[in-house]
Amino acid sequence: MLLRHTPKEITERKSLTVNPAKTCQPIGAMYAALGIHGCLPHSHGSQGCYAYHRSTLTRHYKEPVMAATSSFTEGASVFGGQSNLLQAINNIFTVYEPDIIAVHTTCLSETIGDDIPQILGKARVDNKIPEGKFVIHANTPSYVGTHVTGFANMTKAMVDYFAISNGHKEPRINIIPGWVEPSDMHEIKKIARELGVPIVMFPDTENVLNGPQTGKFEMFPKGGVTIDELISAGSSQGTIALGGLASGPAAKALDSKCKVPCEILDLPIGIKATDRFVDALRKMAGVNVPDTITTERGQLLDIVTDMQAYLYHKKVALVGDPDPLISLTEFLVSIDMMPIHILTGTKDKNFEKRIKEITEDIPHDVNIASGKDMMLFHQWVKNDPVDLLMGNTYVKYIARDEDIPFIRFGFPILDRIGHSYFPMVCYRGGMRILEKILEALMDRIDRDSTEIAFDLVM
Ligand code: SF4
Repeated sequence: MLLRHTPKEITERKSLTVNPAKTCQPIGAMYAALGIHGCLPHSHGSQGCYAYHRSTLTRHYKEPVMAATSSFTEGASVFGGQSNLLQAINNIFTVYEPDIIAVHTTCLSETIGDDIPQILGKARVDNKIPEGKFVIHANTPSYVGTHVTGFANMTKAMVDYFAISNGHKEPRINIIPGWVEPSDMHEIKKIARELGVPIVMFPDTENVLNGPQTGKFEMFPKGGVTIDELISAGSSQGTIALGGLASGPAAKALDSKCKVPCEILDLPIGIKATDRFVDALRKMAGVNVPDTITTERGQLLDIVTDMQAYLYHKKVALVGDPDPLISLTEFLVSIDMMPIHILTGTKDKNFEKRIKEITEDIPHDVNIASGKDMMLFHQWVKNDPVDLLMGNTYVKYIARDEDIPFIRFGFPILDRIGHSYFPMVCYRGGMRILEKILEALMDRIDRDSTEIAFDLVM
């Protein structure tokens, strides 16, 4: 349904969400689990949940997302899901032979109160987990948090289950990339490589969800962090966690479990946040920044300078997840754009505080909200129109109804490709964001120009 009937008047709604700006916890847990090599994510609940989680990821990545389910029926709803999970573990290891199963719960299994560690203990005692294979779990009730929380919980589970200190600090840095695309993970690894810093990245979905077409189906693609790497993360000299909400819990758990000190940074989107990331990595590893990185930074700055006239004081409305929105807002403010409506569906007090600080010098009122929905976002746009919308695919309805240029940013993107292959993080990703912004704004100028003002050179 298109949204043209959204009322302009904003009335307070306490118990009604219209067009949520979020998805559910298990989707994030499933995405994180796919970032472990040889892992089959397992949804402990009914088939409907699992179908939704898989199909959302499949539609976003245009790749077959492999996962399993406990297939709850009425019996499991009444008596609990233990026998389903035990049977599932047995079947999965026998038929599909993954190295590891990553179990996440669902609303139903959480409401029943299934004790997953106890069930996994029984699976071990009953010899349902073969030698050298693993089963891990994360609790992901969807009536608390969102897909970001699910991602954070499963990433923390990787630390809880595997990271071990060998008593030494090895010359290696852990990077927890946050909820970013496989292409972004590639870009972050590229920066570390250019700095000459050995890293362990977890989770790592590069070559899992953006692999090449080989004509051959791989149940377990070649990418992903290995179990050995996850174990070794406990002996790294430090951790850089990108995105406090998605990566912070795992970094803190690693610090308290293995005494690996961590720095929790914003996602490296835009110039300033990327500077902070490069600087933190440089200092932690004790290396110098090579010319290749400085050149990319200079190229990004050059685009900003050249195209300033098209960016200056353009009003933008942003909707998405807290971690990427904090960095994106900072980037837009730094290039003299005016993000004036910024909303996330995930509740996060830090989000409102940070966005307020970042936007305090904007010469315009700024709407900020966390834990709210796209209807409110649309109402803000109706009341104070903008030049550009940025958000996931669902924003296309608002863009069409209000006739505003729109850039797809965030999760899920169900109707375009590119996000799996071209980064939005670090300096190169900043160039891509700028290219998209300028293309959207300049296409609109071309569309709306009179014949006399229709310029060949802009
Ligand atoms: S029931 Fe809960 S876990 Fe299942 S799809 Fe709905 S929100 Fe997600």
